[in-house]
Formats: sequence, C-alpha cells, structure tokens
Amino acid sequence: MNQPHSLKGKTGVVTGLANADSIAFGCARALHRAGADLILGYGHPKGEPHVRPLAEQLGDAPLLLCDVRDDAQTAALFGAAAERWGKLDFLIHSVAFAPRDDLHGRVVDSSREGFLLAMDISCHSFMRMAKLAEPLMQDGGCLITMSYHGAEKVIDNYGIMGPVKAALESSVRYMAAELGPEGIRVHAISPGPVATRAASGIRDFDQLLAEAGERSPTRRLVSIDDIGETAAFLVSDAARSITGVTTYVDGGLHIRG
Ligand code: NAD
Repeated sequence: MNQPHSLKGKTGVVTGLANADSIAFGCARALHRAGADLILGYGHPKGEPHVRPLAEQLGDAPLLLCDVRDDAQTAALFGAAAERWGKLDFLIHSVAFAPRDDLHGRVVDSSREGFLLAMDISCHSFMRMAKLAEPLMQDGGCLITMSYHGAEKVIDNYGIMGPVKAALESSVRYMAAELGPEGIRVHAISPGPVATRAASGIRDFDQLLAEAGERSPTRRLVSIDDIGETAAFLVSDAARSITGVTTYVDGGLHIRG
C-alpha cells in the first residue's frame, strides 16, 4: 500500500480501546503508522491487560483509564496531552454503550434511565471531550467520532442506538459550525459492520455481517484498518476543507435501498 498522508508532528488522543478488534485500535494503528504521537484511553479497568500490549505496539503510547462518566478521568486524559505536548491536533472518540435490555427491546419500550445513559456515554461525552480539547487546539485540530447507518435508516436490532447515533451525527454538524472559525474540524465516520465486542451486543449481528459482505458494492467487509486509514486522512492537512460530514466507510453499503 502507498504511504498515507504524513502525520509527523501531530499529536492526538484516541479513546475507546477495548482489545485488538476495537475500531479505536484500527485508528490508533493507522495514525501511529502515519507518524502521529498518541495518548490512549480505555474505558474499563478490566480492559487493562488487553490494551497494555496494544499501547506497546503504538510507540509505548501513554495509556489512561477513562470512563467517560467520570469527569475527572476524562479531564486527566486531556491534562496528560497538555503536559506532554502543550497542544493537541486530534481526538478519536470511539465510545458507545447502551444497557442490554434497552438495546434489545423496542425503542418505544426503552427506559428513561437506559436511554439517558446511552446518550450520555455515546453522544454527550463527545461534546465534553471537544470542550476539553478546544483550548489545546490553538492551531486548529480535528475531532472524530464513530456513528452507524442506523442513525439514518431503521436497521433491525439497532434499537435505541439509532436515535442516539442520529443525535451524535447532528451534534457533529453543530460542533463543526461552532468550532470551524477556530480551525477545528469535526467528523463522524460511519463504518459498516465489524465484529467487535460492542457489536456482539447487537442481536443477530452475524446476519448483519453476512448481508454486508453480500450486498455492499465492494462485496467485502470493512476492516478496522480501512476505518483507521480514513481517520488518518481526515486528520491530515489534505482534508483541511472537509468538516461537519458523516463519512461512510462501508464499501458503499448505505447506497442500497
Ligand atoms: P469496542 O467494544 O471495541 O469499543 C467500544 C468502546 O466503548 C470500548 O472500548 C468500551 O470500553 C467503550 N466504552 C463503553 N462505555 C464506556 C464508558 N462509560 N467510558 C469510556 N469508554 C466506554 O467496539 P467498536 O465496535 O470498536 O466500537 C467503537 C465505536 O464504533 C462505537 O461508537 C460503535 O458504536 C461504533 N461503530 C461500530 C460498528 C461495528 O460494527 N463494530 C459499526 C459502526 C459504528
């Protein structure tokens, strides 16, 4: 493969690492390969043994526990960036959660607590992180979150995550408008289905994967490296005039009816 756009000298925070299958790891790997320096956030203390070896593969990047419900832990991630670099060029927000019962039930039946928790972790945490990143992005920057086509269309078994991702994609547009004058670009990447821990919580996910492989125009599933390389492009100066959009990395699957 040709060398991607160079990110030498760029610094970034990547959140949402759970294991080697995580989309966040695909992003971190591509960003590291392009020359960026990273700080990594993982969401659960039990994840540490899985993510420590990954951090070692990424130039021994500092690894911090960051449960986004914990404001102090979230602030510490950006405090670490301030201390290490005095600036930040990009953020990858690759975090989502919905309680199982709410995810598996009808949207109509979702509990208030479950819906609010899903919104807090999967959507509002991106806004909170953007606020912490903003003062470190004096020279501009790039904020990227992960969405899914269930934001746009009704996808069987995606349940309350559909409305949550719709709110996330709308937030991307508002945040892009607000932060654009400061040179901060805001993106959603919308990957096709990938077998990850989060995805395993979705009912009949294997069927979704099989259909994606058969129905996408490229006739192949996307990999976490495909997603990572798109993130690296969006972070790069080559994407300086692109902001506020949802970029599909799904082999064209979303153009099907
Ligand atoms: P994953 O399980 O590897 O990653 C999800 C991450 O969210 C985990 O690292 C988990 O620790 C983290 N998380 C959950 N609650 C958290 C909290 N309170 N604080 C901090 N972190 C928390 O799965 P993934 O598929 O790589 O998911 C990453 C993102 O990609 C999610 O936003 C997901 O919705 C999105 N996405 C996934 C797919 C797919 O098919 N896998 C498709 C489109 C979008």
